[in-house]
Amino acid sequence: MKNKSLSGILLTHAHFDHIYGLNTLFRICSNALLYTNVYGKIALTDSKKNLSFYHETPYVFDFPERVRIIDDGDTIELNEDYQAVAVATPGHNNSCLSYVLDDCLFTGDSYIPGLKVVTSLPGGNKVNANESLEKIMNLAKGRIIYPGHGASQEKTM
Ligand SMILES: [Zn+2]
Repeated sequence: MKNKSLSGILLTHAHFDHIYGLNTLFRICSNALLYTNVYGKIALTDSKKNLSFYHETPYVFDFPERVRIIDDGDTIELNEDYQAVAVATPGHNNSCLSYVLDDCLFTGDSYIPGLKVVTSLPGGNKVNANESLEKIMNLAKGRIIYPGHGASQEKTM
């Protein structure tokens, strides 16, 4: 990554399998910021809320001062060329945000093509998940979907 720097990470939600590695990354990239909502910020430093406590390795984020709180509709200026817009997509978890960046839509676990949204974990809510799915389907038109697991999905019209 010569002449490149990481300005920010857009967190789709604060479950352990999406945050392991952040400490290493933030130690290397001293200017990087982490974008998430209020629920995400809390879960990042609470191993029970990010579920890592119940997994192999309890994990907390060591750089809470570099978290920037965002919410539905906020624009994140990553640099002069890239702005992302956050979209609240709760249901899988309260910390779920999706991001629109040009013709890309990052959905995390709020939408994984071919799979039902998991709402059975703490903070999950089926009604919210269905509302979020509707939002995502509208935003997905003309965009490539990048889910939190599995391969990206081609543009839909
Ligand atoms: Zn998850």
